[in-house]
Amino acid sequence: MENEKKEVPRPDKGLLQSPELYQYILESSVYPNEPEPLKELRAVTASHPRASMGTAPDAGQMMSMLLQLVDAKRTIEIGVFTGYSLLRTALTIPCDGKIVAVDLNVDTYEIGLPIIRKAGVEHKINFIQSEALPVLDKLLETSENEGSFDFAYVDADKINYLNYHERLLKLLKVGGVVVYDNTLWGGTVAMPEEHVAEEWKKPGRQWTLELNKFLVSDSRIQICLAPLGDGMTICKRLI
Ligand code: SAH
Ligand code: CA
Repeated sequence: MENEKKEVPRPDKGLLQSPELYQYILESSVYPNEPEPLKELRAVTASHPRASMGTAPDAGQMMSMLLQLVDAKRTIEIGVFTGYSLLRTALTIPCDGKIVAVDLNVDTYEIGLPIIRKAGVEHKINFIQSEALPVLDKLLETSENEGSFDFAYVDADKINYLNYHERLLKLLKVGGVVVYDNTLWGGTVAMPEEHVAEEWKKPGRQWTLELNKFLVSDSRIQICLAPLGDGMTICKRLI
């Protein structure tokens, strides 16, 4: 048929070809050790119309691993939504650790906030309702902030990822890690454009392709594109 287009189902969480395999990973390796507050947060987020934006539990598990590997104490999160990745971070870093968490939307943060409070980790979070870029610029106005963060997680407006990248490389320590979420854009980065479902089409896909191209050639970092969640690119600051 002339107009026939290959149907590309919108993935929920996970890019694996077999939903059973993904379920196996969750049930055998993620859920058994997922802290109770995170399960609760997933449950309260599930009814939100944009629930699929929440960081995937297996991706969260990896975040905890990375945070521990770099001994993270000071972190930045761009894109909080209801707070799954934020709570993951807050539960992982030490008691005197601090997270600068930025989101345009405070209403969604407030959905998760009671659970964050109950978990006893709210004191580690400095939530700022704002566009993220000016917050990073403001941090850079204080020279002590340069090279002072151990970890950053970026899960917000894809158009700004490269802008965030330039600022975050100044804010992170050498050896610090920034993780970018959604770098496989529903798997569409590998599809010919005419096969991509309308909702996944430009511009998000285009920005993602550009970001991926940029990151691999950025000699200031070492990268690993992990196919967890919707694709997570882990970048370590080298110089
Ligand atoms: N990490 C979250 C999911 C984030 S979803 C979790 O684990 O649940 C993306 C979030 O980015 C949304 O809450 C949206 O409000 C926020 N966002 C989008 N553009 C932004 C911007 N320019 N500055 C700050 N936050 C932004
Ligand atoms: Ca995301």
